[in-house]
Amino acid sequence: MKVLLLGKRGQVGWELQRSLAPLGELVALDFDSTDLNADFGRPEQLAETVLKVRPDVIVNAAAHTAVDKAESEPDFARKLNATSPGVVAEAAKQIGALMVHYSTDYVFDGSGSKPWHEDDATGPLSVYGRTKLEGEQLVAANCPRHLIFRTSWVYAARGGNFAKTMLRLAKERDRLTVIDDQFGAPTGAELLADITAHAIRTTLEDESKTGLYHLVAGGETSWHGYAKFVIEQTGEAGVELKASPSTVDAVPTSAFPTPARRPQNSRLDTSKLQSTFGLTLPHWQAGVARMLRETL
Ligand code: NDP
Repeated sequence: MKVLLLGKRGQVGWELQRSLAPLGELVALDFDSTDLNADFGRPEQLAETVLKVRPDVIVNAAAHTAVDKAESEPDFARKLNATSPGVVAEAAKQIGALMVHYSTDYVFDGSGSKPWHEDDATGPLSVYGRTKLEGEQLVAANCPRHLIFRTSWVYAARGGNFAKTMLRLAKERDRLTVIDDQFGAPTGAELLADITAHAIRTTLEDESKTGLYHLVAGGETSWHGYAKFVIEQTGEAGVELKASPSTVDAVPTSAFPTPARRPQNSRLDTSKLQSTFGLTLPHWQAGVARMLRETL
């Protein structure tokens, strides 16, 4: 089996390089790959790459993920998040490949407090959310053999993330202020990559499993709860910090105005994924604690 991975250096792409390797021959590319074009800013050349590689499975981890920046460059965000995935999906259909793609909780408007189901009405609040929604719709329309995973609050041991920013701030300051009215589940790139590999294997054996799934770690928290957990765990690991869990102050979203609006309710219901693939999603704390142990 041959697998084409696009966006190999991102948080999820990096972990996919590990988790997809045992499936077969892996061709992993990023936007600056020289031999084959994998630049999502040049959608017209992506089909050629797919037709040259002729993979059995395409996994797209490339995206425009700079949520605030997307507000000032909507055309570029649309190219990366919608047009290019659509082109790749069309080429995937042409060669009969399974297409795997990632989307986001930002396709929802964040109202209410109930976890969102896959078929709930969408209502993105930002350019990022709108372009990601368009991307998942194009992938689904252009390539019926697809797996689309909506996830949230992704972190990884490699690269920067919210937890590492909190650690840096907790070393510099006695008190931190963190938003406590947005709710979701921090989800490890490692978990996403492992479940992707499992879902690909299972879907290749049973085509009825193609479709759209919510995929996040178990449980829920706010950014404030997430920050407190990070500081608590770091303290327990013996790392000296100026701030402590009790000096992390909770503030509303309005305290940190940003160009892009974020949904307040980012809870995603994962029962479809768990029952279809026979999986149990570990609680978010397990993955975050592990990532901290690896990076401290
Ligand atoms: P990253 O931002 O870490 O990675 C994005 C990848 O896209 C990188 O490999 C990046 O390359 C690549 N990329 C950037 N510009 C281009 C381009 N012009 N052409 C081709 N590739 C390009 O994202 P994540 O790994 O965190 O996200 C993976 C998926 O999960 C995405 O679909 C994202 O929308 C979704 N998601 C992410 C969330 C998060 O919190 N991060 C939350 C919910 C969903 P390089 O690194 O070299 O710039």
